[in-house]
Amino acid sequence: MQVIEFICPLCQGPLRRESEAYVCARDQRSYPVTLGIPDLRVYTDQLVQSVTEQALIARLLAEYPNRSFAELVELDRSLSPAVPSSLRARRRVHIEGGVVRAKSSLAEMQRLGALSARGQFLEIGCGTGEFLVAAADVFQTVVGLDISLPRLILAKKQLEDTGRQAIVISASAESLPFSHESFHLVVGSDVIEHVENPVQVMREAYRVLVSGGAIFLATPNRWSLTPEPHVNVWGVGFLPKAWRERYVALVRNVPYRNVSLLNWFEIRRLLGQTRISRWQIILPALSSEHTARLPAWARAAVPVYHALKDYPLTKWLVYLFGPLFHVICIKK
Ligand SMILES: [Zn+2]
Repeated sequence: MQVIEFICPLCQGPLRRESEAYVCARDQRSYPVTLGIPDLRVYTDQLVQSVTEQALIARLLAEYPNRSFAELVELDRSLSPAVPSSLRARRRVHIEGGVVRAKSSLAEMQRLGALSARGQFLEIGCGTGEFLVAAADVFQTVVGLDISLPRLILAKKQLEDTGRQAIVISASAESLPFSHESFHLVVGSDVIEHVENPVQVMREAYRVLVSGGAIFLATPNRWSLTPEPHVNVWGVGFLPKAWRERYVALVRNVPYRNVSLLNWFEIRRLLGQTRISRWQIILPALSSEHTARLPAWARAAVPVYHALKDYPLTKWLVYLFGPLFHVICIKK
C-alpha cells in the first residue's frame, strides 16, 4: 500500500506527525488521532467535538476490541437517537447490500473504461466502509473519508473483520487534506445530497484527481416517483425546500435535515459550476440489491424502468422521474 501524505485542510501546507496528532506549524493547529484515525475536520465553529459524539466515541472505543462489526453497528444504533424500527430495518438492508452495490458500480465503471485499477482510490463519505471493502480488492491504496468519526470506527472494524486494507480519515469533503493529483478514482456514493456545499465538494474531488482520473457519484433523483429513500416518504422532492422537513415530520415523525436531493437539471447545473468538462449522467441498471428495499409495486416496475431507459424515445422520462443517477466525470 502506497503512503498517502496528509496536508493541512486549512492552508494545504505540510503536517508534522506526532505520536497522537498531526500538527500544522503555520496554523499552530493540532489534529488529533483516535484509534489510528486522523481527525482533520475543520468546522467553522472550531474543532470541538460535540459532547454527544465524544460519549459515543468513548463507548465504541471501549467495546471495539471485543465486538464484531455487526455487534458494533448494533451498539451504535442503540446509542443513537431514536429512529423508527421500520427505517432502522431499511438502513440495515442498505448497509448489508453496500459491498454488492459497490462491486457492481466498479464493474460498470470498468465497462465504461473509466476505471484505472491498481492506482489510488478515495471515497468521500465512506460511512461504515462497504465501498472500501470492494475497492480494496481492486486498488493499490484505498482511502476512506467521512465527516463522522464514530462511523469510521465502525468502518475500521469492518475492514479488519473482512481482512481488507484501507486508510480511514475524518475530514470534510469541502476541504480535502490531500495534495493535487493524488487519486485515480474518487467515489461519492449517496453523499453529494448530504454535503453542505456540493460545488465545493466537486471542485475538491477534481483537484485531488490525477489527469485521466475519474469521479463517480451515485445519488437518488429528487423527482423520483418512488418514495424518498432516506425516510420512505412519497413526494418529498416535489415540495419547495422549506416545506420538506415539516412534511416528513408530519408523515413519519423523523427529522429530515442535511438532505437536499438533486434532479437531472440540478446535477447538470452543479457540474456546470466546476471545471469538469467531460461528464456523463448514467441511468444505472438496477440489481436485486438495489430493489430489495422497494415495495412490491416498485419491484414490479423495475422491468418497465429497464425498458424505458434503454429506448431512445422514452429515456428522457427516466432522466426526469427515475429513482437514481450515476455520474462519471473524467479529468482531462
Ligand atoms: Zn495549516
